Amino acid sequence: MKKRIFTQMALLVGVGLCLLAVALGAVFYGQFAAQVRLDLQQSIGLFRDDDPEALLSDLAQGTRNGLRVTLVAPDGAVRFDNVMGDNSLENHLDRSEIKAALATGEGESSRFSQTLGLKTYYYAVRLADGSVLRGARTINSIWRMFAGALPVTAAIMLFLGIVGYLAANRLAQSVVAPINRVDLSQEPTVPYDELVPFVKAITRHRRQIAQDSAELQRRSDTINAIMANMNEGVMLLDNRGVILSLNKRVGDIFGVAMVMVGHSVRELIRDMVFFQRITSALEGVASEMPLAHSGKLYSVMISPGGKIGVVVFFLDITERAQAEKLRREFSANVSHELKTPLTSIMGHAEMLAGGVVKAGDEPTFYRKIINEASRLIALIEDILMLSQLDEGGRQARHEPVALGAVAAECLGALETRAAESQVAVLVEGQATLWANPAMMHELFYNLMENGIKYNQSGGTVKVCLAEAEDQVEVTVADNGIGIAPADQQRIFERFYRVDKSRSKKSGGTGLGLAIVKHIVLAHGGRIQVTSKAGQGTAFSLSFPKASTSFLPDSGGKS
Ligand code: ADP
Repeated sequence: MKKRIFTQMALLVGVGLCLLAVALGAVFYGQFAAQVRLDLQQSIGLFRDDDPEALLSDLAQGTRNGLRVTLVAPDGAVRFDNVMGDNSLENHLDRSEIKAALATGEGESSRFSQTLGLKTYYYAVRLADGSVLRGARTINSIWRMFAGALPVTAAIMLFLGIVGYLAANRLAQSVVAPINRVDLSQEPTVPYDELVPFVKAITRHRRQIAQDSAELQRRSDTINAIMANMNEGVMLLDNRGVILSLNKRVGDIFGVAMVMVGHSVRELIRDMVFFQRITSALEGVASEMPLAHSGKLYSVMISPGGKIGVVVFFLDITERAQAEKLRREFSANVSHELKTPLTSIMGHAEMLAGGVVKAGDEPTFYRKIINEASRLIALIEDILMLSQLDEGGRQARHEPVALGAVAAECLGALETRAAESQVAVLVEGQATLWANPAMMHELFYNLMENGIKYNQSGGTVKVCLAEAEDQVEVTVADNGIGIAPADQQRIFERFYRVDKSRSKKSGGTGLGLAIVKHIVLAHGGRIQVTSKAGQGTAFSLSFPKASTSFLPDSGGKS
């Protein structure tokens, strides 16, 4: 603004000075030229009535103060010229002032020499003998005059320019300084009335901008907070595949830091299909693809992100995929496990129906059918139990359960079995746990039954219960056949049996320990197995006493 004020003022002063100089020069020059013309007329007019001969001799003797005087005979011949001499000049009859003087008694004209830049005024009078006396006065042209006055004019203009500069500077400063002092961050005091609407608009916009940026900041904080705490990885790419933003989860998945922002996504993921999907997303087509990385499986959702580019989501589906795989295997196993007893039942029933069974052998066949049917029932019960646990074991109703009583109950149910196998079962200690009673019964029954089943005659199964301040410890140990280390890893898998025929013979389903593990997890506990083949097995379970805290719907005490 200062510069502008200054430039405009300087321009104004400059143009004003030039115009003034030109106007004054033109006026003065006009007056000067008129005065020269008048002087010339008066000087020559004085000789109008003089005797031409006397005038000639008079002229020949004296000078005429820079005035050129020419005496021209009536035929145009130059008789005298005080500047050029008399003989050197050609006939002057064609000069307009001479012609006019001869005709009317006086004549005048002016001529301009371009080359010399001089203007000459001529004035001629006819004398008594018919000859003509002509006077001439030469002055500079207006341009020459201006050129002559140029140094002075330039000096004045320079002087005025400096004065103008200082004045303009001072003026600009005095105009701008109060504006510079205006503090827009507070309610401003406006130095000039003309600025009031402008300052008001600025203040309004400032407030609006402050509000908008606070809102933007709030939104950006919200988005950042969401992104940072998301379980899914989120990544934003521009339309060249350069990472614009990524959350911590993406960093964790690929083991990189946020410094990847600004780098190409190719440095992170080298997968042709992924790049093809990115290209499609840039063309507006959303897609989903699986991506395996570091032993995990992710579902990658690639969506068009409008003007930004592409939004990529990484969803960890490792567990889901494993669960699905287990479910598929489970379904196949269930079908197989159900088919075997059913086929056997069918075979025996057909033989009975076909009358191919020897008389007296029928009871054996009926017994086999009953055994297989009860195996089927046991299997279905276990499958149902597992599926119940899968569906919502954690939501089951809980209450304080005296584990000693539960173990004693199971002992009662297994007594005959234990006696048949000649295995002694002992229950030691007491403990109360906040748990689901039916599940606890199932757990103890399975572990104790296994202890009896996989034992030798004369063996023992010992159930120990202990209650510490914050947890309940349960141990079910036997001195039976034991489990080899390689099998110890797998006994909790569904349908896994170390010795299939022994398990079957004893009515096992291969689901008992899977159910036990499920129940333990549903109560927030842990289960460990220690075993030595031929020496015995011990299952150690520990449950946190404050298990209510992770069982949301466990308030019931019925
Ligand atoms: P099952 O119905 O066959 O008993 P489980 O899931 O209860 O199925 O057990 C899985 C397998 O683990 C059994 O088939 C058996 O081989 C082994 N097992 C379980 N408990 C014991 C134990 N106390 N001693 C030795 N082996 C055991």
